[in-house]
Amino acid sequence: MKLIYKYRLKPSKLQQIELLQWLGSCRFLYNVCLEQRIHVWQSFRKSLTNIDQNYELKEAKKTEGFEWLQKVHSQVLQDVTKRVQHSYQNFFRGSGYPKWAKKHSYNSFTFSQVGSLKIHNKRIKLPKLGWFRFIQHRNFEGKVKQIHVIKEGNHWYICIVCENVPKKQFMGKNQAIGIDFGVTYLATLSDGTHLKNPKFFAKYQDALRLKSRKLARQTLKSNSWIKTKRQLNKLHAKIARCRKDHLHKKSHFIALNFRHIAMEDLKLKNMTKSAKGDAENHGKNVAQKSGLNRSLLDSGIGNFRTMIAYKTEFYGNQSVRVNPAYSSQKCSCCGFTSKENRKTQSVFQCISCTFAENADVNAAKNILSSGSELWSSTCAIGQSVGLDAPKLALG
Ligand SMILES: [Zn+2]
Repeated sequence: MKLIYKYRLKPSKLQQIELLQWLGSCRFLYNVCLEQRIHVWQSFRKSLTNIDQNYELKEAKKTEGFEWLQKVHSQVLQDVTKRVQHSYQNFFRGSGYPKWAKKHSYNSFTFSQVGSLKIHNKRIKLPKLGWFRFIQHRNFEGKVKQIHVIKEGNHWYICIVCENVPKKQFMGKNQAIGIDFGVTYLATLSDGTHLKNPKFFAKYQDALRLKSRKLARQTLKSNSWIKTKRQLNKLHAKIARCRKDHLHKKSHFIALNFRHIAMEDLKLKNMTKSAKGDAENHGKNVAQKSGLNRSLLDSGIGNFRTMIAYKTEFYGNQSVRVNPAYSSQKCSCCGFTSKENRKTQSVFQCISCTFAENADVNAAKNILSSGSELWSSTCAIGQSVGLDAPKLALG
């Protein structure tokens, strides 16, 4: 199992300057590599690889005018050529052409092969950079593989990538659960639990609006403009942190308590596509849909799903994704499917067997039963899915 532990770094003023210099060197190198590749392709119709560029990097370090490259750790520099390689590979797979690294977007560098880490007295030693104060809010386990140093807003973080992290023992109940994601509630479980959706963006909406209005009135790039811009960015970063923290707590709760987890496989990309439609097809209910989009993105369902998946794996359990088609219209008691079963947004009442239930809970139960079909079919073929024979506790 591979895990990434993120810690806040507390560099001194001098160290911050040094980190910024490293970041600047990396960004510069990235753009030079990109430029070289473009040039070589245009003149000789040849593609370079990161190995070619690593070799040239070695030569460049000795060249006059490029001595500053020697200040940065060689692993960090070689990681830059690797990043260029990656963006080309993505391009060949159909993504856009690699872009120039810009100051606001190029915000991290990587030590790609870290053998052992020295930590002493709330300080961590980074190769060639020295000792840094950091907040070690938790211990990491496993073998340290890489370290990323990241600048987010005005803060610095380190991400420690660990391999062979030992799995944790599962102490929860041997129960299965279905999860229905939503907007009113972040998620509804098939046992009737609703997980709240705190809607952080909505909470800070007034403050955000106020700041952006202020920003619009100020002269572009003036001192006051920069100040407001900084405050606005700070607010956005705060919202993102709150949201992530909430999702971590809730996904941990689910992974800690349930053995088998079935989630709906929402196509978020399709759902959050521009509500306005394109030039030919104008969208319907644009205002409502863009509101829904905002709330869907605000709750961070995509991240939530990923977190649940890796956390359940961490406890040696498994989660499945099921097709959510008709899960809101089907009766979880008798299986009768009709649009008319859904009386209102929150009430479900079957017109065939008069079974009544909260609409979200009903959907979660349907997702659970689709999930249990998946489990039993994989077990029937005799494939090991890394689970004990699932004993389903419905409801
Ligand atoms: Zn029914």
